[in-house]
Amino acid sequence: MAKDYYKILGVSENASKEEIKRAYKRLAKKYHPDINKTDSDAAERFKEINEAASVLGDDKKRAQYDRFGTTTEGFGPGAAGFDFSDFGFSDFGFDFEDIFDTFFSRGFGRHSRGPRRGADLRYDMEITLEEAAFGAKKHIIVPRMEKCKECNGSGAKSSSDIITCNKCNGSGRIQQTRRTPFGIFSTTTTCPKCHGEGKIIKDPCPECEGTGRVHHDRKIEITIPKGIDNGNELRIAGGGEAGIKNGSPGDLYVVIHIKPHNIFERRNNDIYCEIPVSFAQAALGSEIEVPTLKGKAKLKIPAGAQTNTIFKMKGKGIPSLHGYGVGSENVKIVVETPTKLTKKQKELLKEFEKDSKKKKGFFGL
Ligand SMILES: [Zn+2]
Ligand SMILES: [Zn+2]
Repeated sequence: MAKDYYKILGVSENASKEEIKRAYKRLAKKYHPDINKTDSDAAERFKEINEAASVLGDDKKRAQYDRFGTTTEGFGPGAAGFDFSDFGFSDFGFDFEDIFDTFFSRGFGRHSRGPRRGADLRYDMEITLEEAAFGAKKHIIVPRMEKCKECNGSGAKSSSDIITCNKCNGSGRIQQTRRTPFGIFSTTTTCPKCHGEGKIIKDPCPECEGTGRVHHDRKIEITIPKGIDNGNELRIAGGGEAGIKNGSPGDLYVVIHIKPHNIFERRNNDIYCEIPVSFAQAALGSEIEVPTLKGKAKLKIPAGAQTNTIFKMKGKGIPSLHGYGVGSENVKIVVETPTKLTKKQKELLKEFEKDSKKKKGFFGL
């Protein structure tokens, strides 16, 4: 008859994972051989508890156990499962969470603290509309974790300080084989001493305190491509933080923010502006000078141009980011009514008005 794992953990057959986890933690603390030295059965109880938790904590194994009263792979009845007696309490600071989580999520032997990719970083960059239109090179300072030069990321004082873990002989894993009435069961666990790396550092690098990374404010040149728009992101591969244990570095994402321009407003690759013209310039027609992103340009206003008319200047806008042509500059003219007139101007305008009335309907009146 197989063991009653529910009874061992003191939970009901429909206990939730959370309940099983709680029960396990409570009992594991009570019966851990390092703590419970008075009870001679503590070690045996502890093994039972771990075995029960390793089955009930795993959905697949639990379903199998519920159905057949046994599990076929890994932890069979009688197999002691995970041998916690390998761990001194100092090894995991009385926190079963990590170890227990492996029951519930990843399974044994896959938890390694080996190389990990560095974090991605985000940098928000403000640029001008001109820089967005024509591209630019910018230098930014990115505070980030970099590979320690002293130890080249190894974390060891010298290469001879990296030694093979004597607990697992460098494999990073510890295999345990148990003979049971049902056959030989073998379990593999991550080596608790080297955390699966197979190597340990005897003397850590003083520069990075063994972490292999140091903080550095790195100056990075960023090339802004022409045509970039607000909210676009530039990905600088490998520009993020250095990886842990010589893992690959993260990426740097530069997020573009275009400052408001005091003349132009951008809509896609076109730009818009308003230019005041005098009543006479609009009425008589003229060539005016208008600002552009590059400087100035001439714009011909035909005689009789009305206020709010938009004149399109092709090719004076923003180049397409993907290289398909250039937008236009759209100049809206605003006819201004003069507010301060000289005596002569007043007389001329009165004369003009008198003349206009003769030509009936000039102003639509
Ligand atoms: Zn090891
Ligand atoms: Zn170092």
